[in-house]
Amino acid sequence: MEKLILRTLSIEITRKCNMLCSHCMRGDAQNLDIRHSNIRNVLKHIRCIGHFNITGGEPSLNIKAIRYILKQVELFEIEVYEFYIVTNGSKSSLSDEFIAICSKLYDYQQKKDMSGNFRMLEMSDDCFHDNRFHAEIIEKLSCYPFFGLRGQADYIFLFKEGRSCSGNQNHIHPLTLNEGNHLEGNVYLNAEGMILSNGDLSYQRQTGNELCHCCCFWSYVKYHVKKY
Ligand code: SF4
Repeated sequence: MEKLILRTLSIEITRKCNMLCSHCMRGDAQNLDIRHSNIRNVLKHIRCIGHFNITGGEPSLNIKAIRYILKQVELFEIEVYEFYIVTNGSKSSLSDEFIAICSKLYDYQQKKDMSGNFRMLEMSDDCFHDNRFHAEIIEKLSCYPFFGLRGQADYIFLFKEGRSCSGNQNHIHPLTLNEGNHLEGNVYLNAEGMILSNGDLSYQRQTGNELCHCCCFWSYVKYHVKKY
């Protein structure tokens, strides 16, 4: 089987977080960062990614993993149309190291026009997040073309997951393999190294809904994903 083309890939690089939002769909933070070898286990099988979401936890608390992701996409010459990171607007969102690696991701990705709804790096601006540093972050990051606000100040869509007591049902859909090795669905690599097909599950609900360990990603796609 040749390398895969993914419409969406999410990698949960950490379960650490420096906030305690009451709506958090992940649930309680954990002292866990992803192993670099698990990132490699997945990226080595991919040649093209449409939307590459680097998530957590709070992504700015594991800059080493973001650097490693960039190194691997360069090494495997993976085409990435767009990266996507949501940061919570804490002190760590302001770190020079975090901004520097985000700039490098932006340089690497193919999409350069940031005039639409999506920015590569967005800061959560809803009513649940601690906003003490938000003004400082907006002032520091507004000069970067890839930075913007999440746009949820007036309305936030929620799933009933983790600490969120209200919201929508969060269904899990299977992955499918289409002609030309297009792997469709939400491919999600969690910080434990497990592959799932939904990126919005709480940590608790991820357990029991894993498809396989990432070291078996290739054989799972080959033998278990429905083909069209
Ligand atoms: S919503 Fe994000 S910032 Fe808030 S506690 Fe959850 S992971 Fe942390």
